[in-house]
Amino acid sequence: MDKIRIENLEVFGNHGVFEEETKLGQKFIISCSLYLDTRKAGQKDDLNASVHYGMVAHLIKKEMEENTFALIEAVAERLAECVLLYDEKIREVEIEVKKPWAPIGLSLEYVSVSIRRKWHEAYVALGSNIGDKEAYILQAIEKLKNRKDCRVKKVSSLIETEPYGVVDQDKFLNGALLVETLLPPQEFLDVLHEIESEANRERTRHWGPRTLDLDIIFYDDEIIQEENLCVPHADMHNRLFVLEPLKEIAPYKRHPVYGKTIAEMVVDLKK
Ligand code: ADP
Ligand code: MG
Repeated sequence: MDKIRIENLEVFGNHGVFEEETKLGQKFIISCSLYLDTRKAGQKDDLNASVHYGMVAHLIKKEMEENTFALIEAVAERLAECVLLYDEKIREVEIEVKKPWAPIGLSLEYVSVSIRRKWHEAYVALGSNIGDKEAYILQAIEKLKNRKDCRVKKVSSLIETEPYGVVDQDKFLNGALLVETLLPPQEFLDVLHEIESEANRERTRHWGPRTLDLDIIFYDDEIIQEENLCVPHADMHNRLFVLEPLKEIAPYKRHPVYGKTIAEMVVDLKK
């Protein structure tokens, strides 16, 4: 990706742990790298195909002046989010917040915090087999769409499938989504769980009936093995009801461990 850099932008802000700092304010120096594709802007010499760094600089100044944070960590987090939400072309951002007058009673050039944040690509499998299945699934998609830190980019059609594992239950409706998100995996899982419980989901028996099931299938090409989160989803390659909808929106997406595309995994499973 290409980079647009704003270096050492001086702004005033009332951030700090001490009361004097929040009252009197002080100087902060912000550097910001925007990662995007500037090819078209470069070829056509067209600002509309790029991101206006002047607007971004003013956005940073405004955020710095209108909020008060104790920590420069929080300042950096807020600035990164604002910049990533400012223009869809910005895929990734690096923010450095320098505090040259940090009141520690010693002479120093500055203290600083640097963070890097980006839009991630998550594939989500959707399922429901109680009540108005379609409504539960559509509501879940709406809830994701209404979050500023998530963008629903692709929605598969919904297919009816036979129950898996525990077979003495109603048929399922299944689908898949491509979601771009600013949330790290655990926070994204929390959001999915929250949406599940808002759909009156009760966790009774494993693989049992549910109003709504939202599973993370892929999160970028990350491999995550945590107690409550396994990505890529551990059993996806055995589940046609996951693979079929996924194939509709991402046939060539490759499993980061097995190395096969979704289309290939469908063929293998049907053998
Ligand atoms: P299942 O989806 O397998 O039918 P549940 O929806 O009841 O079962 O999920 C059980 C637990 O699986 C969740 O509490 C969650 O922490 C864990 N889990 C592990 N990996 C994932 C994943 N990739 N996506 C969603 N949940 C996951
Ligand atoms: Mg689940």
